[in-house]
Amino acid sequence: MSAAFRLIVPAPGGPEAIEREALDKLPEPGAGEVRIRTTAIGLNYIDVYHRSGLYPRSYPSGLGSEAAGVIDALGSDVSGWAAGDRVACLFVPGGTYATHAIARADALFALPDDVDDALAAATMLKGLTAWMLIEKCARVAAGQAVLVHAAAGGVGSIAVQWLKAIGAVVIGHAGSPEKAKRVHALGAAHALFTPFETLAAEVLALTGGVGVAAALDGVGKDSWQASLDSLARRGVMVTYGNASGPVPPIAPLELSRRGSLMLTRPTLGDFVANPQERKEGAQRLFAMLSSGAVKVEIGQRFALADAAEAHRALEARRTTGSTILLP
Ligand code: NDP
Repeated sequence: MSAAFRLIVPAPGGPEAIEREALDKLPEPGAGEVRIRTTAIGLNYIDVYHRSGLYPRSYPSGLGSEAAGVIDALGSDVSGWAAGDRVACLFVPGGTYATHAIARADALFALPDDVDDALAAATMLKGLTAWMLIEKCARVAAGQAVLVHAAAGGVGSIAVQWLKAIGAVVIGHAGSPEKAKRVHALGAAHALFTPFETLAAEVLALTGGVGVAAALDGVGKDSWQASLDSLARRGVMVTYGNASGPVPPIAPLELSRRGSLMLTRPTLGDFVANPQERKEGAQRLFAMLSSGAVKVEIGQRFALADAAEAHRALEARRTTGSTILLP
């Protein structure tokens, strides 16, 4: 076995705060837990918030919210799983930036044969997020126009394809002409790279002055106003991330004044909180993958030990599609 290790942040900070910690002894799974030998780890923007302290943890803290791998040890009281099973895990307390992660057995996802470990690590958290946004929050119907920010990114590029598959009209926004080209290739009816200041005017022009039925906004502070200004009467504002910083407060009366808008600020944990929900989300996601409706691009691969570089690339808007870390 090559040397086991995990990455930690002793205290909140920039990418340089990430430190390598050797695991002289492998962590042991407790009751109801399994140990996973990770083979591919998903990089997610939430990892940046945990590292920076925007979403505070108890420090020193592990990092990482998603991994795929193989079960290599079982604690007591675990049924339904065996050593060697291929699984994905999300949101494990100790973090997934590690050669070995401890996860609750009842919260694992079994991986189908046609979803390899790299694809799983690139897809589970972001794909379930797309499912949550589209089917649970905005409840998008065929024919509706939807604005997707960071549409060439991890969640965004899956959401664009998912929306296209259910017959929505996607207006995708991205930060550069090159990324906008990708967004178009993913199936967006319109792919824009206009500054946020003029984005809403373009969206209104493209929708005959009506606006979009929903805005899926993980960019946050910088795109918030453009999203609000782009919404149709009774449109759904789904603010789900803070890549550019957290959004400012809004008064309920402002939603009324803008045409009875609906506002939601979801977090995936609340949509995969029980086995039925996890099963439903995974089934929908795996169906999208196996039908070919959603193809996940692994735009970047980094060695796990180089996670700080991966964070720098993500924060500098230099990534497209999903990024994985390889232990
Ligand atoms: P992305 O791959 O989408 O990367 C973030 C993208 O945001 C960048 O590529 C960039 O795209 C855009 N962006 C715009 N402004 C900035 C800025 N100032 N700094 C950095 N990025 C900026 O990341 P993920 O797919 O991992 O996550 C997307 C969003 O979804 C994040 O906000 C994340 O927190 C959120 N999320 C929320 C979940 C939830 O449960 N609520 C679950 C999963 C993800 P461009 O250059 O094209 O604008």
